[in-house]
Amino acid sequence: MRGKYRWPDGVRCVVTLTVDFDGPSHETGRKLRPLGINSWGRYSGRRGVPRYLDLFEKHQIPASFFVPGYDAECYPEVVKEIHRRGFEVGAHGYLHEAWDLADEEEELLKRTHRILSDLTGTAPLGWRSPSGRKSARTIRVLKELGYIYDSSDKDYDLPYLVRIDGRRMSDMVELPSSAYSLDDFPFYKFSMTPASEVLEHWKQEFDSLYHENGYFMLMVHPRSGWGSGTPSRARVVDDLIHYIKRHEGVRFFSVAGLAKWCLDHHDDFE
Ligand SMILES: [Zn+2]
Repeated sequence: MRGKYRWPDGVRCVVTLTVDFDGPSHETGRKLRPLGINSWGRYSGRRGVPRYLDLFEKHQIPASFFVPGYDAECYPEVVKEIHRRGFEVGAHGYLHEAWDLADEEEELLKRTHRILSDLTGTAPLGWRSPSGRKSARTIRVLKELGYIYDSSDKDYDLPYLVRIDGRRMSDMVELPSSAYSLDDFPFYKFSMTPASEVLEHWKQEFDSLYHENGYFMLMVHPRSGWGSGTPSRARVVDDLIHYIKRHEGVRFFSVAGLAKWCLDHHDDFE
């Protein structure tokens, strides 16, 4: 199977760095006032996202930010800044909905799509489910809105074409994300792993994927609390980027950039 994957221009390992904005939408959606202890989502808009913009700019690498519509309404200038500085803005729910949305889902997907499109002047090309929630209808609505990728599923470790009713789409790709190993959330929320150990763990993950000619997608949250927004935890990502860059044949992509390549070459990889 591995031999079928041919990355562009002889690239050996593909790297995408993704930041899930996860601002006050997370608490507000759970009926918590984003104040006091529950204000750590606000850290994303005020400190975390600007810190990551500077970090990616310093390294001169592309990156993608997934933004809930509600957070974009709270921090419109920050979302504009992400786009202005050349980084991708993808959609990530409205109120970071982790619950079943039933008939409301379509309207909420369209609402966030509108908010992000209006702010950046560019329609988002990708979506990542908040809290991993997704329904049988999600992909159809995203396709209708012109999305070319989804980055929600956990069922594979390489890109693959999306199926609808068992039919392989030629215009939409799944770029799976790892919700446990390459996500900061479990380490800082559940195990309170020290930042230095998280760095070692991510380096190991990279080493294994590099060895397999694989695909490395990191997912961090720029909030305080269980995120990677604060200086010592953002430094883990900084150190990781330095480490990855020391390897030959690595190419950094935005998720949309990788999705486009996959769609242009879908005969080569699947
Ligand atoms: Zn999220």
